[in-house]
Amino acid sequence: MSSLLSSDHVVVVGAGVAGWRFVETLRREGYEGALTLVGDEPHAPYDRPPLSKQVLSGKWTLEKATLATPERLVASGAALRLGVRATRLDVANTTVFLSDGSQLEGTHVVLATGALARPLSFPSSGALATLRNYDDVTRLSAVLDSLEPESVVVVIGGGFVGAEAATSIKARGLVPIVLEVAARPLIGAVGEKASAWLEGLGADFGIEVRTNQRLIDVAPREDGVEITFDDGSSLRAGTILAAVGSSLDLAWLDGSGLTIDDGIVVDRDFQAAKNVAAIGDVAHFVVTGAMGEERARIEHWEIATDHAGQLARFWTSGERSTAVTIPYFWSDQYGKKIQMLGHPHPSDDVVMVEGSHDAGKWLALYSRDGFVTGLVSLSQPRALALSKPLLEEPTSLKSALERAPWST
Ligand SMILES: Cc1cc2nc3c(=O)[nH]c(=O)nc-3n(C[C@H](O)[C@H](O)[C@H](O)COP(=O)(O)OP(=O)(O)OC[C@H]3O[C@@H](n4cnc5c(N)ncnc54)[C@H](O)[C@@H]3O)c2cc1C
Repeated sequence: MSSLLSSDHVVVVGAGVAGWRFVETLRREGYEGALTLVGDEPHAPYDRPPLSKQVLSGKWTLEKATLATPERLVASGAALRLGVRATRLDVANTTVFLSDGSQLEGTHVVLATGALARPLSFPSSGALATLRNYDDVTRLSAVLDSLEPESVVVVIGGGFVGAEAATSIKARGLVPIVLEVAARPLIGAVGEKASAWLEGLGADFGIEVRTNQRLIDVAPREDGVEITFDDGSSLRAGTILAAVGSSLDLAWLDGSGLTIDDGIVVDRDFQAAKNVAAIGDVAHFVVTGAMGEERARIEHWEIATDHAGQLARFWTSGERSTAVTIPYFWSDQYGKKIQMLGHPHPSDDVVMVEGSHDAGKWLALYSRDGFVTGLVSLSQPRALALSKPLLEEPTSLKSALERAPWST
């Protein structure tokens, strides 16, 4: 890989945290050439995690979530093309075609287009409101503001975003009810056992979480919506939010020649093709863990920022990261903090090593084939941080339990 030259033009598609952090890091690493950041949202880059937390609860204005303040934008020297969508990519000529009919001829292209909220629609309602971006939270906040205090608000999906949204809706003096299709929320993320340990969090916080819910229809009513279920029962609510995971919109890359397989497939250096890279939520990348490599697409804020830094350094200096990647994720829900380190599979063995279910704080260790693969904690940030070294090198479960770094 030859390093970027000042005569180059780097085009970044997607103005989320990955795209923006890439722009800033590239400049910090000394790149002085042309740099264009394209984003289909009309807003300067902002952070998504506060949307379901501080912004939806009314504690922050959206401006507080801004990443690219006017000063930082000027300092970046990047040309911003906001409110336009990339509609086609010519890989061989590193040229991006835009929805306004213009095109950007780059020497290098970064694809940082993230994910979408998975849409959910019903025969009588059409697509329901979701929570992924600035405009979603603005619209939802306006609807919530229009409701009487104590109105019921239904959140479909008890995953991370759904639980956070329900917590924030309660903070606004409304009554959220979470409808989860599975037997327990978060089974797919943390596995059977740990999801059972997390099961009562909503109820303990005064939020009703109904599981095994099968919705048939959602119909608009004068005072909100009426939800009907497969057992014939129904539920009235002031409004409804769908938080049922994410999806990808990569149809615009059809015919580009890039390999698409649950994301844009990239190599160890985030290269999807010559001088075309993909980072963040959209990248199907190589996770280098202590136990070896595995391919995955991971929707974590820290992964997006980490990718941005690694790619910027690779393109400016050829420097390859040799460090082990330890994915990190957090979620603030029902008055608690859930944190995850590593990349455990839901089917991995899990053992609670610190705290207890009754205490409402604990640390759990995941392992596969006798080796530690990840850590999940409930409101135990210190124990989690102390245990991170267990993921930096291959560590047997036996040795982890003997060392017990969480208790130091
Ligand atoms: C409500 C919410 C709460 C979250 N909370 C947490 C949390 O607590 N902890 C955590 O670790 N992670 C959290 N996440 C996940 C985290 O925000 C994402 O991992 C992160 O935003 C990914 O960054 P990204 O830049 O890859 O993608 P995105 O942030 O999705 O940015 C991609 C941008 O590209 C734009 N785009 C897409 N296609 C095109 C195109 N063709 N042309 C131009 N622009 C395009 C999109 O509109 C978007 O603006 C949360 C996500 C959401 C939605």
